[in-house]
Amino acid sequence: MKIGILSRKADLYSTRRLVEAAEQRGHEVQVLNHLLCYMNIASHRPSIHYGGVELENPDAIIPRIGASVTFYGTAVVRQFEMMGVYCVNESVAISRSRDKLRSLQLLARKGIGLPITGFAHSTKATDDLIEMVGGAPLVVKLLESTQGKGVVLAETRKAAESTIEAFRSLGGRFLVQEYIREAGGADIRCIVVGDKVVASMQRQAKEGEFRSNLHRGGSAIPIKITPEERSTAVRSAKIMGLGVAGVDLLRSNHGPLVMEVNSSPGLEGIEAATKVDVAGAIIEYIAKNAKPHSNRTKGK
Ligand code: ADP
Ligand code: GLU
Repeated sequence: MKIGILSRKADLYSTRRLVEAAEQRGHEVQVLNHLLCYMNIASHRPSIHYGGVELENPDAIIPRIGASVTFYGTAVVRQFEMMGVYCVNESVAISRSRDKLRSLQLLARKGIGLPITGFAHSTKATDDLIEMVGGAPLVVKLLESTQGKGVVLAETRKAAESTIEAFRSLGGRFLVQEYIREAGGADIRCIVVGDKVVASMQRQAKEGEFRSNLHRGGSAIPIKITPEERSTAVRSAKIMGLGVAGVDLLRSNHGPLVMEVNSSPGLEGIEAATKVDVAGAIIEYIAKNAKPHSNRTKGK
């Protein structure tokens, strides 16, 4: 097969691993920087050009679109969909996953367990918003947070009020969430490929920290997940419409709660922690499922 990987940097660990896994399995791979793809969208015969020439249709595309370039990146994926090229994660699914509120609303609608979450644009009713999610302690999250940077634990009501006010005055969009204390500063990252969890790790926050992000000094170990956690992760990816996803769960005393579904999960941490060939699992899934004109959204 001919596989195209949309990635801005060929030397990123995840990109390198996908290239390696594809080549090992006898596929031809090309890394395409989506920001350098250009296209004639009005043509009757949709095409993509790259470096002065028209791209020959690959059999499959693996989008690895960074959050900061979602708008253009998803337009490129959509163009591949219009050309009938199989995309393991489709443009609509990537857009959904990039919008935390939309994702949580979709998951809630299908009965997936979530931490109680409140959201407001501009309300003076901070009191009621705090009340709505069950009062302090609570977690306030900037919507565009990554690596745990914009995530604050407010232990008391006073702290919650001032955090919300600070975020609001800075113009940040945020949500407030019930604090799952019993998770004990740990979360579980499941990598879903198709209808399987192919690898899972537990990330544990360092002493005195509640955020388990590896960037915040957290550590990762492989973990055996329960059947309920497994089905929650697989269902969440499916609801989002993602063929490949990183699903983050919290273990609460009333079952698994989904925090986030990521459409370009990093492979380095999970492969190091679990020794699973996640890149290989992704390539094998694609080899089995890639058919022309089989996308669900076809560029819609
Ligand atoms: P980011 O997208 O910036 O990584 P997350 O929403 O994943 O932000 O939160 C970062 C970390 O904080 C999580 O990995 C988890 O360990 C912890 N955390 C987030 N939300 C909650 C919550 N509601 N209850 C308990 N811990 C939480
Ligand atoms: N058709 C909408 C979409 O593009 C439905 C809402 C949703 O599923 O996100 O996604």
